[in-house]
Amino acid sequence: MRLTCLVLALALCPAGAAEKTLAALKQDLRKALASGDARLLGQACAALRTLGGSEAAGVLLEQVEKAPAQSETYWLLIDGAASFGDESALTAVGRFVVERGKSPAARDVLFALERNRLSTKSAALIPIMDECAGELALGAVRQLGEVRVPEVVDALIARLARTKDSDGELRRYLAGALANITGEHFGTSIVNWEGWWKGHRGRELTGRKARERTTGTARDEVDAIRDEQIIGIEKLSPRRIVVIKGKCVDWERFDHNFDHIEHMLEQMDFPHTVITKEDFEAGFALAESMVVCINCMMWRPHCVCPDCKPGEDAGNRLHRCTGCNRHDVREYKFSGAAVERLKRFVEAGGFLFTEDWVLEELLERAWPELVGSGPKLPEKNVKALPAPGKAGHRYLEGVFRPPQDIVVTGKHRPKGRTVVRPPEEDVRAYFSRAAHTWKIDNESPAIVVKKKSEVELLLTSPDLARIARGNDALAVTFRPGKGPRKGAVLHILSHFGKQTSQDSEYGIQNMLLGFLIDANAQRGRVLPPARKGPEAEEKGTKEEPEEAPEEAPEEEPEEEPEE
Ligand SMILES: [Zn+2]
Ligand SMILES: [Zn+2]
Ligand SMILES: [Zn+2]
Repeated sequence: MRLTCLVLALALCPAGAAEKTLAALKQDLRKALASGDARLLGQACAALRTLGGSEAAGVLLEQVEKAPAQSETYWLLIDGAASFGDESALTAVGRFVVERGKSPAARDVLFALERNRLSTKSAALIPIMDECAGELALGAVRQLGEVRVPEVVDALIARLARTKDSDGELRRYLAGALANITGEHFGTSIVNWEGWWKGHRGRELTGRKARERTTGTARDEVDAIRDEQIIGIEKLSPRRIVVIKGKCVDWERFDHNFDHIEHMLEQMDFPHTVITKEDFEAGFALAESMVVCINCMMWRPHCVCPDCKPGEDAGNRLHRCTGCNRHDVREYKFSGAAVERLKRFVEAGGFLFTEDWVLEELLERAWPELVGSGPKLPEKNVKALPAPGKAGHRYLEGVFRPPQDIVVTGKHRPKGRTVVRPPEEDVRAYFSRAAHTWKIDNESPAIVVKKKSEVELLLTSPDLARIARGNDALAVTFRPGKGPRKGAVLHILSHFGKQTSQDSEYGIQNMLLGFLIDANAQRGRVLPPARKGPEAEEKGTKEEPEEAPEEAPEEEPEEEPEE
């Protein structure tokens, strides 16, 4: 998959528009919405932002919930609302999220604030942190952790002081946000934070020195909150994460994997075990595994005769044999028994990461009532957007947010420093519209969602809707099975490893990171502690069992995020 990050600046308003009255701008917005012209709409949003104030923000927020979901209009309005720079408008944006927190639009507005680089956004975020629960509160804390101003430290410490013992995840987020801003590490100890802050409130907030990391992956840019979540993963026993790769008679001539998730895990420094499909079919046990990743591979019948030469394209990424009459045809599709074992693995709490062709080979066979495969798509670049309401989903964390520094401004601006031109005058300087472009491989099957109530769309593409009979999903997740031990499936339409820029590479890696973090958080209630000592039945493990690192203490079971 090629994932190109296009950072589009909001169009500036035409000269003179700033002097227009609110009523006139409201009129312009209505006209732009009626015309369906994205450029006009961008201009109308920018003019309202330049005017500023709670009423201007209110005009946009009022339209946000009326816009058709999954449309360009919807995202222009969401970004417009999140791009305000003044405190009174941002306070109104915060109220909207607090009051309409259950609506997809409110969630998406909160997560669009991630791309606003002004410290004044704390006016929206602090009330959300204080008054919302679950994902919304966590999302606000994560963003506040980048705003290095004393008022934010005050608010984070005050929030920490009000947490209960049962607020484990919120406490960890608060501790991470405080560490990000201050560079100090007092964990969740309120006494230590309060004591330290008393003596340091007047000093400059320098931020946390990131741990030196040179994996060349999205891991290098994570904040303190995510960093802590990841630490548990690097200490796992290699048996916890299993990659199933393709196998063929001749590795030199044929790599039957279209992708190598094991290389990504290696680069990220996550212990894992690589097995071949044959190992799995022969009974490789998943009893201690929390995640199974399956490489997209050539599983359809194909000829491996060394004398045959590839001729014309025969479809399904295969070529007709030429120059030889002897053929040696192999097929590596999962057996029915293997499908059944993977289905049971997930329904008993396991996490399964799949891409592209694995949809047909495995997912639609294991869960035909939930997902299916649609028309084969042509090779194409398509625009990727979060599904409405999902911009803050934990598997999309970091996918649409460029690394950025927050500009200290508004009432937070240090006294006595001359600012020639405040950055908030130019929206391009502090708000980026992020859209990704995904490369779809030739002959990838569209994802058909059969049960909307159980399959969550994460990423969608308006371009895909047009070419794939309305099947616009680029990434989906679902939790099949019954009872408290359900695992999860994350399926993406295309691949790792074909991206052209670091931004796009990191975007897709962040989805895998989010999935691994979630799996690790659920592990405690699903799996027994890793066994020590050699295990004869597990052939093909990457490391000698006796070299396996110590198992990290089991996590507390995660609370379901409150709605
Ligand atoms: Zn593939
Ligand atoms: Zn041959
Ligand atoms: Zn042949």
